[in-house]
Amino acid sequence: MAKCSFCGDTLRPGTGIMFVKKEGAALFFCSRKCERNLRGMGRNPAATRWTSAFQKEKEHGKGIEKGKAEKQAKKPEHKGKQAKKGKR
Ligand SMILES: [Zn+2]
Repeated sequence: MAKCSFCGDTLRPGTGIMFVKKEGAALFFCSRKCERNLRGMGRNPAATRWTSAFQKEKEHGKGIEKGKAEKQAKKPEHKGKQAKKGKR
């Protein structure tokens, strides 16, 4: 059975949308939502939270989540008022 090209869900026979590109590559979509996200808005499945591609990236630890967490960890803590109180 075909899998959705965006979210990765398996398509039941007789359901979904098949889109064939000019070069002959076929894309399968379970819903219009998935089609719009990939073709219309050009979103990356690995960067979209509700897809299985994103979950796989998260499991391997290479995903965007880890990058975000690292960025947050590097942020300096807010010390503004506490530092002033210490000097006085
Ligand atoms: Zn889908």
